[in-house]
Amino acid sequence: MVTPGIKELLSTYDKDKITISTVCSHSSLQIFHGAKKEGLKTLGIAIGEVKKFYDAFPLAKPDEFFIVKNYKDITRYADELRERNVIIIPHGSFVEYLGAKNFLRLEVPTFGNRKVLEWESDRKKEKKWLESAGITMPKQIKNPKDINKPVIVKYHGAKGGKGFFVAKTYEEFIKRVDKTKPYFIQEFVMGTRYYLHYFYSPIQKEGYKLRKGCLQLLSMDRRDETTIDEVQRLGSIAELEEIGIHPTFVVTGNIPIVMRESLLPKVFKMGEAVVNKSIELFGGVIGPFCLETVVTEDLEFKVFEISARIVAGTNIYSAGSPYSEYIQPGLSTGVRIAQEIKQGLKEDKLHEILS
Ligand code: AMP
Repeated sequence: MVTPGIKELLSTYDKDKITISTVCSHSSLQIFHGAKKEGLKTLGIAIGEVKKFYDAFPLAKPDEFFIVKNYKDITRYADELRERNVIIIPHGSFVEYLGAKNFLRLEVPTFGNRKVLEWESDRKKEKKWLESAGITMPKQIKNPKDINKPVIVKYHGAKGGKGFFVAKTYEEFIKRVDKTKPYFIQEFVMGTRYYLHYFYSPIQKEGYKLRKGCLQLLSMDRRDETTIDEVQRLGSIAELEEIGIHPTFVVTGNIPIVMRESLLPKVFKMGEAVVNKSIELFGGVIGPFCLETVVTEDLEFKVFEISARIVAGTNIYSAGSPYSEYIQPGLSTGVRIAQEIKQGLKEDKLHEILS
């Protein structure tokens, strides 16, 4: 994949002064920490003001800050960011708050393939991508009258699980749904959740080889979601619902986890299929991505979401994970991103991993 225009954008860059930059939020500490460990310069884009807590983490504090009034302003400073030889590392908050349109037209070299956004943010396209790769997704329920087992109702664009609710019957659904917002009904999959953190490099030669490049599994986590994950401290969900207390799915943190080793072949098969299909559909998902899965009692994976960039669950592993330890001690996703950029620089292949 080579994005039109990326070579021109890079042509003015001083290759000795490449600067890793992202917005100070989400996984920025890990991104800066990784870049600094790899000897790259760092620039933190701060919204409104520099948050004092960066002083508390000297090894993850960016070398310099770039203050903008609000997210939308970032696009206006593209020239200045390019003059500073900036490569943007997008994370979930960056894309969400900048907005898809602004992100796509931001004229600053950005790690990964920005075309993935179109395939990940549109539920129909996401389903087409994953299912045509042979991935099993939870069933979609088109007509709420067909609800005859637990479902999860998701609002479009609601991030961090905000507003999501579970219903077991049509009556429950009607009581809770906010019909003013577009929603989506999905089978609630019974099982255990694993959020798998992959890294796909189109330029790496050694490792778990794909048709082009290599795939790594760097780590995995489980999200900690309030109130669903601890609601049982007060009583069963059914009891609580009777008194009008409904569980919510708002992410507050992440918990480390490993999986039965016998499931790892499936994890790699899924990752491989998702990458191969992405190459066919839009030139490839490049760099970190995450499959959000539930493993059922039959040890089958159901994937309810894909995140096509660094996820906050990788923050647990700033010093490496049980899996990345087998690749290189201390390897975090932040370090891996910096290494990929350094390899791109060395082999004159930056245009293959940036867009
Ligand atoms: P999402 O925004 O799609 O990542 O969903 C938010 C949270 O809802 C997830 O982290 C899961 O805990 C839960 N969830 C989402 N979809 C499903 C599903 N189909 N079955 C069970 N739990 C789900």
